[in-house]
Amino acid sequence: MAYQPQVVDAKLVSNNPKNGLFELVVTLKDRTSCRLIYETDAASGAKNATHINRLQNEPCPICRKDFLCNCMSKFKDEISTQAMAKVETP
Ligand SMILES: [Zn+2]
Repeated sequence: MAYQPQVVDAKLVSNNPKNGLFELVVTLKDRTSCRLIYETDAASGAKNATHINRLQNEPCPICRKDFLCNCMSKFKDEISTQAMAKVETP
């Protein structure tokens, strides 16, 4: 079955108004945590998630590795959309 990330919590953990970069830490229903890094387009104000990193608090829910993997990058946009609905972004 395809993995379906479900964001239960999102927090703004850093924000740099000078360059429009900010970071969210999200928690998924399966206890996976991820850090999302965003940039803000200076002209349009659009916020784009550029990177996602799984925090290694739990094994990866997809490949079960407990070290760095890239599985979450496939779900970056989905997780980002859910996270932005939960937290006030700069
Ligand atoms: Zn993985």
